[in-house]
Amino acid sequence: MTRTARVLVVGAGFSGAVVARELAEAGHDVLVIDARDHLAGNCHTERDEDTAVLVHRYGPHIFNTNNEMVWCYMQRFGTWMPYTNRVKASIPKGIYSLPINLHTINQFYGLRLHPKEARTFLASRASREYPEPTNFEEQALSLIGEELYGAFFYGYTRKQWGCEPKELPASILKRIPVRFNYNDNYYATRHQGLPLEGYTEVIRRILDHPAITVELNTDWEPAMKGVFRHVVYTGLIDQFFGCEAGALGYRTVFWTCSGGVGDLQGNAVINHCDLADAFTRVHEHKHFAPWEEHERSLLFTEYSKETETGDIPYYPKRLAPDLELLATYQIRAAQEPNVTFLGRLATYRYLNMDAVVAEALERAPLILRQLGRPAA
Ligand code: FAD
Ligand code: UDP
Repeated sequence: MTRTARVLVVGAGFSGAVVARELAEAGHDVLVIDARDHLAGNCHTERDEDTAVLVHRYGPHIFNTNNEMVWCYMQRFGTWMPYTNRVKASIPKGIYSLPINLHTINQFYGLRLHPKEARTFLASRASREYPEPTNFEEQALSLIGEELYGAFFYGYTRKQWGCEPKELPASILKRIPVRFNYNDNYYATRHQGLPLEGYTEVIRRILDHPAITVELNTDWEPAMKGVFRHVVYTGLIDQFFGCEAGALGYRTVFWTCSGGVGDLQGNAVINHCDLADAFTRVHEHKHFAPWEEHERSLLFTEYSKETETGDIPYYPKRLAPDLELLATYQIRAAQEPNVTFLGRLATYRYLNMDAVVAEALERAPLILRQLGRPAA
């Protein structure tokens, strides 16, 4: 381990890489460690040896943001190819377009409504029972009514989260828009793109600085705290404290993979919303790089389950007991002045890539202030 580094960054995902770069550019020597054998955390991409398809090993990642500063920052570290995420949904009645838009509504109800008519129509199907929706189900029923909720959200959400949608916060549904035009872009953000050479190459470039040393296959150990003036920790907050008060709840996802020749499903993502299918969605990864040509193809079928020992934590559940536990760990974290807790795992939030980049850029000046002038 590099003993001259004054700052240790635990985790080589977007959070760790961006903060390491900012501290290095300000003149500090930084050691970045990661328990895995690769860079980029959950955004890691790699070429499949057989097909040469660029695979997003931990699930497809599409960069999208309204944050001009973040978008500008990302341009420094790679070529970003224009990409629009268009998701299809499979239900027993057929294949529909998501997020719910005018095409979905007209196709689902066999109508030919114009935007204004569709708005009035959906309002007539929506429930008025919940003026202030308090959970996912109430939010959905108030927004789109029983039929669309039942067809596209109830089953998928049960499978994805392993509980009744009424046990989940309304905020989860608010991530997806409802539109009264034919715009089927999954995101409503201004910028959307995918890195030409994959996310791992972007992270490699962010970390490519003379003051940064990277050590993979290296686990965080509490004793490291004594060696560095400051630690930026992007791992699980409960694990940092030895899970003394208990473990925070996460859902994990896993995939089965099959291959074939040609175009296997005709789209990058098809969601399977019916409870009868055990899986939630199927990804055809070559469609995430439409500028490349591949004769062969790979399909990844995604399943969701509770996280058990050894599973990768993906989605923070944030149920009431989790939030209580989180508060306990946050109090402990506040008593660690030389440790910054950063990123999706250390703050126990579902955060998109642009949000973790923004937070890393915001936190870096505070860490710099605390560190003072770099050693000559
Ligand atoms: P991570 O990427 O998880 O990196 C943390 C790193 O820390 C890991 O490499 C880990 O190995 C390392 N680490 C943890 N503990 C230790 C330890 N004790 N010792 C050493 N190393 C350790 N966002 C989008 O913007 N668009 C998308 O399309 C999108 N799709 C997603 C799909 C899925 C299935 C999921 C779950 C998330 C998706 N996200 C998406 C969110 C995205 O994955 C996160 O924003 C991003 O990974 C957060 O980066 P991070 O650096 O905070 O965490
Ligand atoms: N969702 C659903 N049906 C779908 C897509 C999404 O019920 O076809 C619900 C599900 O509960 C999911 C949430 O909406 O967790 C947010 O969707 P998003 O696409 O943001 O999920 P992610 O890509 O983060 O898994």
